[in-house]
This record gives sequence, C-alpha cells and structure tokens, in this order.
Amino acid sequence: MDDAHAQPVEKILRMSGVPLESGLTQPEVAKRRRKYGLNRLRETARRGVWTILLGQFRGIIIYLLAAAAALSFFLGDWAEGWTIVAVLAINSTIGFATELRAIKSMESLRRLSRVHARVRREGRTIMVLADEIVPGDIILLQSGDVVPADLRLVNSAGLQCDESALTGESLPVSKSVGQVSSDAPVAERTSMAFKGTAVTRGTGIAISVATGMETEIGKIATLAAEAKAEISPLEKRLDRLGGQLVWATLGLAVLIGVSGVYAGHPFATMVKTAVALAVAAVPEGLPIVATVALARGMWRMARRNALIENLSAVETLGATTVVLTDKTGTLTENRMTVGRIRVVDGIVQLDSKAGGVHPTDALSDQGKAANGPARLALRIAALCNNASLATPDSQGRVERDEGDPMEIALLAAGRRAGMEAGSLEAEFPRVAEEPFSPETRMMATIHQPPARPGTDMNYFVAVKGAPEEVIRHSVRLFAGEGAVPLDDAGRTDWLRYNDDMTLKGLRVLAVAMKEASQPNVMPYDDLTLVGLVGLLDPPRADVGAAIEACHSAGVRVVMITGDHAGTALTIAQNIGLAGDDASVIDTADIRAGEVIPPAEEARFLQALVFARVSPETKLSIVSLYQRNGEIVAMTGDGVNDAPALKKADIGVAMGQRGTEVAREAADMVLRDDAFPSIVAAMRQGRVIFGNIRKFVVYLMSCNLSEILVIGGAAMSGLPLPLLPLQILYLNLVTDVFPAFALGFGEGDPHIMRRPPRDPREAILGRDRWIAIVVYGVFITSAVIANFVLALGPLGMGEQQALTISFLTLAFAQLWHVFNMRASDAPLLRNEVTENPFVWGALALSAALITGAVAVPDLADLLGMAMPDFRGWCLAIGGSLVPLALGLGLHVLRPNWLRRMQ
Ligand code: ADP
Ligand code: MG
Repeated sequence: MDDAHAQPVEKILRMSGVPLESGLTQPEVAKRRRKYGLNRLRETARRGVWTILLGQFRGIIIYLLAAAAALSFFLGDWAEGWTIVAVLAINSTIGFATELRAIKSMESLRRLSRVHARVRREGRTIMVLADEIVPGDIILLQSGDVVPADLRLVNSAGLQCDESALTGESLPVSKSVGQVSSDAPVAERTSMAFKGTAVTRGTGIAISVATGMETEIGKIATLAAEAKAEISPLEKRLDRLGGQLVWATLGLAVLIGVSGVYAGHPFATMVKTAVALAVAAVPEGLPIVATVALARGMWRMARRNALIENLSAVETLGATTVVLTDKTGTLTENRMTVGRIRVVDGIVQLDSKAGGVHPTDALSDQGKAANGPARLALRIAALCNNASLATPDSQGRVERDEGDPMEIALLAAGRRAGMEAGSLEAEFPRVAEEPFSPETRMMATIHQPPARPGTDMNYFVAVKGAPEEVIRHSVRLFAGEGAVPLDDAGRTDWLRYNDDMTLKGLRVLAVAMKEASQPNVMPYDDLTLVGLVGLLDPPRADVGAAIEACHSAGVRVVMITGDHAGTALTIAQNIGLAGDDASVIDTADIRAGEVIPPAEEARFLQALVFARVSPETKLSIVSLYQRNGEIVAMTGDGVNDAPALKKADIGVAMGQRGTEVAREAADMVLRDDAFPSIVAAMRQGRVIFGNIRKFVVYLMSCNLSEILVIGGAAMSGLPLPLLPLQILYLNLVTDVFPAFALGFGEGDPHIMRRPPRDPREAILGRDRWIAIVVYGVFITSAVIANFVLALGPLGMGEQQALTISFLTLAFAQLWHVFNMRASDAPLLRNEVTENPFVWGALALSAALITGAVAVPDLADLLGMAMPDFRGWCLAIGGSLVPLALGLGLHVLRPNWLRRMQ
C-alpha cells in the first residue's frame, strides 16, 4: 500500500482486514509473517551454522595442515597423512562446536535487548519484538518509542516524531490522522509514522502498512548494503595479530628448515619439520577464543543484569575511566514517598525520615485539619499526573501501580489524605496536557470542571514542576481563602524553602494553578503558587559499595541529574560519591545549543555532581570529557538522551524506566536500572580482555618453546627432539584445552583494584612479549636438557629419548597454566587454581598425552615407546622445572611481570 498516507483511515482498516479494537489473531499473524517475512531491515549479524562450519576450514592454519598432509601422502607416508587429516577433523569439530554454542548464546542474549513494540492482538495489548510486527498489526505508540514499522495513524493525541534518521529534518514533526495528498514527499506525510523514527511526544494508535525492506527506510539502498556480520574490534585485532604471526612463523620455519639441511639432517625430514613447525607456531584457536570469551562474558554480564547491545562495548567497558550516571532510579531506588509539604502557613510532615521540622514551621493540628493549602497541593499533584494506583477490584485482585514513581507517590499521598485520582478526574475532566519536558522542567494539565454561573473562567490549569521554574512563573500565592500577590521578595523566600528541603535530600516539586477562560492558554504564565512537595527517594542499598569499587578501580563516578543542586549534592554525599566539601555545578543557566564556556572547562572536569542538566548539556559534558582523553560510560533513559548515549563510549540505557529510543541508541541495557550492574559489567569487561590476553600469552609461549626446541636442535646438529606429528598432536589435540580454560576464567579477584587499561594498548605489549620469550625459554631449556640427558649420560635410545622430550614438553606446557596467575596473586588460591575448567582441561590433556605413549598403535604412529619408570621420573621431573622457575619469577616480580596484570 504505497499511498496509505492519502487514504482515509476507514479504507485502510477495511483493506487490511483488521478490527481496530481487537487487532489481528495469532493464526492471521502467522499467515502474514509467512507471506511478508520478518520485519527486519537486513539480515543482521547472523553467522549461520554453515558459515561457522565453513569458517573452520578457512585460514592459513588449515591450509598449512592440508599442505602437510598432501606432502606426507606424496612422500608415501600414509599413516602420517591420515593422522594429519584426523587431527584436522578433530580440531575443526571442536572449533565448530565451541563457536556455534558461543554464537547461539550471544544471539539469544542479544534478542533480549532488542526494540519492542506495543501491539494489539486478539483483543489484548502485548509487547512483541519489533521484528515480529506484520502488516495489519495495530500498534500503540507513546513518547519514547521507536516506530517499529511504517504505520498509518488511526488516532493521534499530540503525537510528534523525530524523523531526522529518515528525512534529515531535525525538528519533531506533528502527526495527525487527516489524509494528505498522494504525491506528498515522505517528510510531509503527517498521517504516517515511519519505521526507525522516534516518538518524541504524545500518544497514538496506528496500523502497520509496511514492514521490513518495504518500509521507507528499507528502501534506502545504502542501509541494505551495510549488511555484514558484526565482528567486534577485539576479534578484528586478534585476527590481525594472527595474520602477522603466521607470516613471522613461515619465515622462521623456512629459516630453520634451511639451516637444518645445512647441519646435515635429511631434506625430507626438514621439509616436514618446517611444515610442522609452522603449524606449531600458528596460534590456533586465536580466531575462536575471542568469540568464546565474549560469549562467556556476555552470559555472566546478563546474569548480573547487563545486556550488551554492541559487541565492542565489552572491550571498552574494561577501559572505562569515568561513569556519568543519573541519580533518580540508578543511584536511588526510584520508589518515592511524599515526605513533607510546604504551604503558605507552614510545613506538613508526612514521613519522619524527611528530617526535623522547626516548631514554628510545623502546622498545628488544628491547622492541619483545616489545611486547605496542603490539600489543594495534593489535589493539583493528583490532577497533573499520568500515573495510576493499583485498586483492588471486585475479585480482590490488585493490579500494579503504573507510571512514573514520583507521580505514583503523589497519588499515594493523595489517597492517604482521602483523595482518589479517579473521582478527581471525574469531577475535573482533563481536556488537554502539556507533557513534562526536560527543557521546561514542568508539566501542566488543563481541566474543565462543571460550569459555574457568573464567570467565564471555566477551565482549570494544574501545574507541577521544578520549583525554580514554577516559582519564577508565579505571580500569586495561594493563601487559604484566595490568593495574595507574590513579589520578588516572596519568590526569594520560597526559593529558600526549596533549598531547605533539597538539603535534606528531598526531591522537590512545586505545584501551582490558575483559572482560564479557554482551554488553549499558555499553561505556564501567570500562575498561583500553591506549595512545595518534597519526596523521599532512598539510595539503593548496594550503591555505596559499588561506588567504592569504582574508586578503587581508578574509575571516577560523576552524577549528572536533572534534579536540584541541593538534592543532588546531599544524595551524592550520602552514598559516598562526593565528600563533605564537594561542590556541585548547576547547569541550569546553560541554555540549549550553548557550549561549555572554555574558562569553566577545568571546573567541569573536576566536578563530581552536575545538577539541572539538560540533555544537550549532557552531550556537551560527554564531549568535554572525551576531548580530555577519558573513556566515558553514560547512563540515560529519555528520548532526548539518545545523542549523548550514542556519543558516549559506552551508552547505558535503562531496561525498566528507559524508552525504546534510549535502548536503541545504547551499547548496553541494564535490566534492573541499577548502578551496581554497571560496575559488574565493567568488571566482566576487564575479565574478558584479561582472559584473552592470558590465552594468547599461554598459547604463544607454548608455541615458542616448540620452535626453540626444534630450531635449537636443527642449528646445533642434535637429533630432532620432536617429530612433526608429535607437534601436531600437542598443538591441535592437547594444548587447546588449557588455553580455552584460561579464556573461561572468572578473573583475578583484584581486577577491580587496578586502574583501567589504556584503550590504545596492544593486546600484546612489550611486557607480554617478554613474558612469552621468558616462559618459552624456560620450557625449551627443560626439554633440551632432558633430551640431552637421556641421549647422553642415561644412554637411552633415540626413540626413548624422543619420548622423554615429548613428555617433558607436553607436561611442562600443562603445568605452565599455573604461571598465568596475576603477579601478586597467592600461589595456591588464585584465579587459575580456582578455575574448574582448568582442572578439567588438565585432566583431559594429561589423559591424551599419556594415551599417546601408552596406546601402542598411537605411540607407533607418533614414533614413541612407553618409557620405563626412570623415564617417567625424568620426564615429569623435568616438566616441573619451568613451573618452578615461574614460581621464582613471581617471587622476584620483575617490572614487566608486575605491569602485566
Ligand atoms: P532526574 O535526573 O532526577 O531524573 P529529570 O530530568 O527527570 O531529573 O527531572 C528534572 C526535574 O524536573 C525534577 O527535579 C523535577 O523537579 C521535574 N520533574 C521531573 N519529572 C516531572 C514530572 N513528571 N512532572 C513535573 N515535573 C517533573
Ligand atoms: Mg528522570
């Protein structure tokens, strides 16, 4: 339906065959999904089973192995050829299974955080994934939603959309039901809402007329061209590292091959050895480990309520240096209660936790009973309100409270004073609403009570909002029997009352009202101030500990709130975010579009608390921090937060209170909205990166030892201590298990006591290269020493000696995992010894190594023989030497090791 915008609503409904009140039935939805497919713009980020399987047979490692097999067949070595093929098969099966599981688990996790839409189906309103919308679905829109498909509006209550993603128009467009001319350009089709745009205001009901690639945004070809599987930067960096290593290795292998031939080894042996060496040195598993470690880490994050939207976030999380966090709902519980009310004649204390009241300020009981002003304040707060309280119905069932927790609290306080929002609404039917906006920090509703004779003031305007704003707009004060003028001195008094309340940590709202003769008045002019309502919002219990954890991890925590400076600072101090002498920056004076004055920048960079921050200022603060080299994580929930969420290195959206628009812009979504979940995710980010580094250091020191053993022997004229097949066996069958186990680790318990990683730092910096070489040399020395001992003083045969060197190397590599603990970790209880995967991997690998000498056919194939008791002692004893040397290193803690956390 290409001209839905030009058709009358009735016709669209008729043509779609959908009853507006009940929506599609499930069978009809299924039918339409088969016909139209999923509502997706492109096949996003899916690596199918076949791609994963084929991926196993790609890459230089496999080519090398295939070449080695071909060479063996060519040289008539059938057994060896087939062994290589078998090894190849085992290796790719392991790779395939691991990668498939990892990718499936990541995909199912990421489904959790995708965009949802409210749909009417079978007479009920349900949330579904935007992907699952079909043409004909009845969609309910509200401010903060991402429009899930191209929709024809059926009903609009002040609906506005930000269509900049589609049309480039930066101002929100008002939407209405009326049809527009059929040749109107997309930007002028006001009767439509388009997929991918954001609802910034109002509510609406609409019917889906196009989905997936049929939508306007789907038709923009460039988007479709972007369809490529998403690969995290980490995976890319590892791929690059792998590529470089392959070429270095090939060079080395050729070098060793050539020098071996010069030293007198047979040509064919040296060719095969060189190939085997190349295979040995190539870090197999490098391409998979990132996927596996990421999947594992994402799963752990999800268990701690953090869902990753964007894979690169995982890596950045570990490098985060500053967290800019909301106050309400993230640091606090967002479960509010009205603590006290200040009206013209004094204070009504509703909750003792709201702080003490000076006797002269407290209302007398008599005053309370007759307290017109306080009642009126609650009444306005209940009228200017979009929440609803749960009410037990006839069956005794209680639905849930719905809406903004602050508005719920206002209704609850009203109910305690004997006012039900429902009957108030009946008495004062609402005719219009000026929604809350973070720019004005106010909200107004316009009501039409029954007409009174003798006046044309038939409308009543109820206003609530940030006290500074409401007081600024007030010219009268409600004083019981009517209003008295409010002058500058009066306003200053009320601002002081406000300050007093905020310094007790209360979130304060002012309520005001006026009468009007017609419904479309300017809502915020010429108001009568009624009073101040202070709400308690207790800090989350675990937030203090989480902030402390950030501080010891070298991460700054900065509060950025729309709330008042006093409230912000008091709460910041209560939870340990700011010290007693901390100051707060009030950004109320920075108007939209203005930049932060250069003279202020230093102060902004030092501050811990920002109050009255508008979404634009949030964006400026993020930019300022980034220009100063910080890696910024920022939380946000509203539609207007989207630009700042995108700009931040880690945009964190709220899963419960956040809008779909914020979620879409974010890199991470918190299911529980809680600050501690960010900290848990940062920890996992560090763990994942650390695990990958451990994996690489471990694997490469093992591989280097193989190169050095062969290279050393080849150049010195010793017989070769390792045969090509043995190297293959070690690398592709036994080594991989301990390496992957390291990739699964829980992480160093002290990981959050270290400063964040420098994001520019390479995966393997200078320190890690030193480690690889040092450990490689340790293992090599043990193997060569044992080999020489066996051949010489112990007088073993060549096959026996070969077996000894194989076993020494194999076991030394196993024990070497224990060298991978942090340099300051205790010997017996550390992340490696407490990683159950490590023990499982060791058992499996040890069995495979023993099998290689104990199973006669396998031993034959690998050119080995079962050693005697003396041989076992020599091999095991020798294999422990690199571990002992590693222990010594941990005692000495040279600088490179110390830095290598
Ligand atoms: P926060 O960072 O605390 O979530 P907001 O941007 O949500 O801040 O709100 C800023 C201020 O706007 C609040 O301190 C309050 O004074 C006012 N305010 C917030 N929500 C509403 C509302 N629904 N109606 C009226 N005023 C509101
Ligand atoms: Mg808020």
